Amino acid sequence: MKACLASSAIQPVLLQQVQPFNETQPIDVLLVDGAIAAKGAQLAVPDHAMKLDARGYQLFPGLVDGHAHLDKSLLGRDWYVNDVPRNLSDIIANERRYRREQRPDAQLQSERVTRRCIASGTSFIRTHVDIDNEIGLANLEGVLETRRRLAGKVDIEVVAFPQSGILQNPGTAELLDQALYLGADLIGGLDPCSFDRDPVTHLTIIFDLAVKHGKKLDIHLHERGELGAFSLELLLSFTRRYQMQDRVTLSHGFCLGMVDAERQQQFAEQMAELGISMATTAPSDVEVPPWALLDRYGVALCAGNDGIRDTWNPYSSGDMVQRALMLGQRYRWRKDQEIALAAKTITYGGAEVMAVEHYGLSVGDRADVVLIPGRNMVEALVEMPRDRKVFKAGQLIAENGECLF
Ligand SMILES: [Zn+2]
Repeated sequence: MKACLASSAIQPVLLQQVQPFNETQPIDVLLVDGAIAAKGAQLAVPDHAMKLDARGYQLFPGLVDGHAHLDKSLLGRDWYVNDVPRNLSDIIANERRYRREQRPDAQLQSERVTRRCIASGTSFIRTHVDIDNEIGLANLEGVLETRRRLAGKVDIEVVAFPQSGILQNPGTAELLDQALYLGADLIGGLDPCSFDRDPVTHLTIIFDLAVKHGKKLDIHLHERGELGAFSLELLLSFTRRYQMQDRVTLSHGFCLGMVDAERQQQFAEQMAELGISMATTAPSDVEVPPWALLDRYGVALCAGNDGIRDTWNPYSSGDMVQRALMLGQRYRWRKDQEIALAAKTITYGGAEVMAVEHYGLSVGDRADVVLIPGRNMVEALVEMPRDRKVFKAGQLIAENGECLF
């Protein structure tokens, strides 16, 4: 993802005595022309600069939601009474029925939920967008329009996602092809064994499309145990064969939490070697991938809100700080050093997965930052404070949980 630095018309901002979340001393940080221009113990205030006393705030780079479904959110609509059976195909069939009967507007819904994400400090989102032979490209067009309307406020990557399968849903492969022409950044996939019942054909279709369009790939893999491990082995071999190193993300990957320790290490080693990154939502009801192990092997790791208030579940506020806490609780991290991995996952890890250029808190990095009250990183997360200050390209765009635009 290319840096999009703002014009020089933006007023410089001097953040005084702010505490970078991964450093030990508060410092001054100067934001100019959409970038971090200087850092120091005490910087002179430039002419016309906005001065902000940031004592008591932790400075994070803009938060990254690496796995969302912005097109599905029902935020702002009548309350959806969830009475949906638990299995995947019933959930998907229910969602299709709801969509047919209620016709939610994907543009309106995705903009609503994205504004809420921005207000909590999210600066980068990878969203999967449903594509099937019933709605065609309507949801994609809605989300692309939202991306256009919110340009400069948030960076959105769009995955063309076959939520209803490809082989189970004739015509979807052609729609995915069109979606990539229309502006989707990645091709998605879904449970090639259990859902489409033909993993090789499913993977061949999506890898062919990725190569044809020069796009990256992000596949949902909910398959458990040995079945999931088999799909993952296929994913590794397809990545090798199609030379898609550093261009593939595995979403969910529950099976990695179900195989024995030796195989976990083998998978981690191969994923690191092939540059396959991972996304999790830290679900509480299923095994989860060995996060600390994958991190040790150098696999890029991100987290995401997944569905936010949709027909799948009523949870999530869109807040990545809340998601970091869910990660900590799911993995039973209590030590500050362990919780640092949750902070890394919603910041640098996500940025690595999305290949965001100039991401971070160094001089020259993009001035996409969020200030969160707290004496240290852990307190800033566990308090989940509302009074945050969100900057995009050096401009204050949200505070106290509200967008300023
Ligand atoms: Zn998902």
